Amino acid sequence: MKSKTWIDNLKVYEPGRPLEEVAGEFGFEDTASIIKAASNENGLGPSPKAIEAMQRAALGMHRYPDGGTFHLRDKLAGQLNVHPEQILFGNGSNELIVLLAHLFLEPGRQLVMGDRAFAVYFLATELYQAECVRVPMPGYTHDLEAMLEAITPQTRLAAVVNPNNPTGTMVDPQALDRFIECLPEHVVAIIDEAYFEVMPTRMRPDILKHIRAARENLILLRTFSKAHGLAGLRIGYGVGHPVLIARLNKVRQPFNVNAMAQAAAMAALDDIEHLEATRKMVAEGLDYFERELGAMGILTVPSGANFILVQTGHGLKIFESMQKKRVIIRPMNGYGLPEHIRISIGVTEQNCIVINALKRARQA
Ligand SMILES: *Cc1c(COP(=O)(O)O)cnc(C)c1O
Repeated sequence: MKSKTWIDNLKVYEPGRPLEEVAGEFGFEDTASIIKAASNENGLGPSPKAIEAMQRAALGMHRYPDGGTFHLRDKLAGQLNVHPEQILFGNGSNELIVLLAHLFLEPGRQLVMGDRAFAVYFLATELYQAECVRVPMPGYTHDLEAMLEAITPQTRLAAVVNPNNPTGTMVDPQALDRFIECLPEHVVAIIDEAYFEVMPTRMRPDILKHIRAARENLILLRTFSKAHGLAGLRIGYGVGHPVLIARLNKVRQPFNVNAMAQAAAMAALDDIEHLEATRKMVAEGLDYFERELGAMGILTVPSGANFILVQTGHGLKIFESMQKKRVIIRPMNGYGLPEHIRISIGVTEQNCIVINALKRARQA
């Protein structure tokens, strides 16, 4: 076998541990008794309207999907008040991150990102043998001015994850406007809003206004995986200038978004009740964790997303100890935060179990 040797040095994404794997390792009789608070999934489950749509769609699964996602694009374009040619769906927004790297990165080129920002940007950069410039994040927050200063003639992409995963931090909306306006033309900004739907309203930037104003070097990424509760289907989208979207269309697979996902996403876009219930669950859950952890004297980072970064000390040990108590959270050593864990917000009952497991893990 003579595959390209540099590929052997690539790191792989480390996802939250699947329920089945943990159940197998510890001999737990079923997965239902385990709480997974490790992947920022929606604790309420999928949108009920999406479930119904998937059941109906099942009967048509012998057909290839609509490769152009026509109906879904049309509907979303109407909701976002942009043209359908400004939208591209992906097999999760993760696919779009890789496609952007495919379009813009190669040896000698750079992507600029925060040094505690979503790891997929780093991995996609390495995949195209480009250089990842990681800018320090004081207070766990993107430093937009430092990111602008880090840009060189070789830079092609600059990623701002807002709210950021895994820190939950948000940037000031006006500061983000200025960042976009100051960005040199040879750099495309990727604004990743995977948690937009659960963000506090006053912190939501209006990225679409720049896109409607025909700014070329900008793409907005969102997903159905988090607030809509459809992570298993793999569907997300990008919104940008038609020229950029057309280029991305050239490098994707013809049927990159499956038919089940398209049907579910159509229904989820209409499920206002599920979205409202999700926002309420997240807001109440964040309050609860801040209160409980504060009472335990544990530092937390204020979050605008459906998870919270917590400074427990000994993140790996806490992770292992909680896992034995059937609770999966995420240790943060991979992000250079060995003293932290990240906890996904769930429903009240689940949050209580997580807190109790954490209390016992700290005594262990
Ligand atoms: C979860 C997440 C994604 C990827 O979502 P998919 O649509 O499931 O691929 C992208 N960006 C951030 C910041 C995320 O947290």
